[in-house]
This record gives sequence, structure tokens and C-alpha cells, in this order.
Amino acid sequence: MRGKARRCGTLGGAAILALICSGAGLPPPLAAPGPSPQPWGPSSTVDANPPRAGASAALLGVSQQTQARTVAKALEAYATSLKRAEARRLAAVKTWKLRRAPLRAPAPPADKPEVTSERGHLSGAGLPPVLVRVPTDEKVVFLTIDDGAEKDPDLLRMLNDLRIPWSGFLSDHVARDDYGYFREAHRQGAGVHNHSISHPELPALSYREQREEICEQQDILEEEIGERPTLFRPPYGAYDRDTLRAAASCGVRAVPLWAEEAFPDRIEWGREDRKFHPGDIILTHFRGEAEWDGSMTDMVRRVLDTATRQGFAVARLEDYL
Ligand SMILES: [Zn+2]
Repeated sequence: MRGKARRCGTLGGAAILALICSGAGLPPPLAAPGPSPQPWGPSSTVDANPPRAGASAALLGVSQQTQARTVAKALEAYATSLKRAEARRLAAVKTWKLRRAPLRAPAPPADKPEVTSERGHLSGAGLPPVLVRVPTDEKVVFLTIDDGAEKDPDLLRMLNDLRIPWSGFLSDHVARDDYGYFREAHRQGAGVHNHSISHPELPALSYREQREEICEQQDILEEEIGERPTLFRPPYGAYDRDTLRAAASCGVRAVPLWAEEAFPDRIEWGREDRKFHPGDIILTHFRGEAEWDGSMTDMVRRVLDTATRQGFAVARLEDYL
């Protein structure tokens, strides 16, 4: 039932929906809950779930024909809203000068994959896993943006227009002058996570100092953004066992590092084949033209065009970790 409900959430077209979702066209009481709302699904401006034919105690006693008409109408309205959302997305592809429309990510996994530390990284009971790619066979990659110095409004516009999911890892010392920017990103569906208070080389610090760097930023982000982060990325990717212990002690579930790093003019590949692989985590930074030969939107364009050319979609990290 769950699989059926999930498909209903991702397919468009009134006819298909009518067949799949309502069986004979009459209200099937959907016992299992549908998929959780996907802010980066077909569009956050439309309901990610098609109208439920089942929630219709009010229809009891009405003739089956009337019921069927009501269901058909609701599905048609849903299909229309999906079509409009797709038209807006395609218009954004032109606005932001992409070569092709980004591929759509598949529906998120019903259950998050079991994640263990990548080979060569520390692991242990009670410690959050350290990874550079998410275990999946799907052709998806994940976009993560670090630090928080540059707060380019065009970046939020572009990612929102194109419905591209992403996750920010914020360091308080550069993000704090405008947490409002990141609140807006979070409101649009972005994940906001922890990248320490002052961006130190953590292994050079004592356990207590590391705990302050990580756990105080957990508290600040919870206060500023309204949601406690579940992911932590150590500055420079440098960590030791104390880092993982400290992170675990204040609610961190996983420590995503990265497989590639993106810039406006290039991608620095983690492997010799210079290709994305399923589940790769892409790192980039909130940086502007002062430090980069290009803007943040140039960087996003490079990531998206490269991913699309290689047959990859950008998926939402929090759906997998
Ligand atoms: Zn950093």
C-alpha cells in the first residue's frame, strides 16, 4: 500500500492518477499514510499529495456517479497545478540560462539507508558515521554549501525557481550577521546544519573545546532557524574521535564530508574518472565574486549542467540521512 501511495505522489495526469489511486474510481480508504510532504517535489506551491478519494465521510450516501465526478474533478485540478508548476520550472531553466532542464530526483527512499562510516574513516558504537557519499544506487547527488559568508539573494531565487534541494552548513562567525537569509532558505525547503562556531581545526582542541564549538552552534541554529540540526561537517574535513563524541552528545546523527568540490569555473573531482557517482556529496561555499571567478549562480549552473549531462539529479540529503 505504501508503494502505491508513493507512486500516486509522483505521477502526473488525471487519468493515470484516477486509475492508480482510486482503483475502480471510488473512494478507497487509504489506510497507510502517504509520503511525507516533499518540499522539493513537483512544486511546493501545490499539494505534493493528490487529493485523497478516501477522506470522504461526507460523501456517504451520495450516488456513486456523483462521487466519481467529484474525484475526477479533484484529480483534474491536481494535474493542472502540476502542469503549471512544471511550466514555471521550465521557464526558470531559461531565466537562469541552464543548458537543459535538471533531471528530477526519484521519490525519496521509504526508509533511510543504513549508513556506516566510509572506509578509512573513524567509526564506533554511538558515534555518527562519517561519509563522502550516501549509500544508494540511484543516480542522485547532493548539493551542500558551507560557511555562510556570502548571502546572495540570487542564489536562493535560482535554487527555489528550479526546485533544487540543497543543504547549508553554517559557521556562526560568518553566518551570524544575517541569519534571516538562512531562515528564508530553510522556509523554502533547504536543510540548515552545523559547521562549528568559529571554524577551527577541531583536532587541535580539547574535547571540552570541541564540544563548545559544535554544541553551542547546535543551540544557536535551533534558536535562529527553528530546527535543531542533525548533521555536522567539521571545518576542513578535519576531525578525530573527540569530534565525533562531542557531535553525538548534542544530537548530530551523521557527519557528511564530500566527494567533489564545485566552483563557478570548475569541479574538483574526487575520482580519476571525473564523474559523479550515485550518492556523491558535492561541497561548495557561500562565496562571492571577490573570491571566485564568478558568482554563486554561475557555480550552481556548472553543477546542474554537469549533473544533467551525466544523467544525475540533485536530491535532498535529509531524505537519505
Ligand atoms: Zn568551512
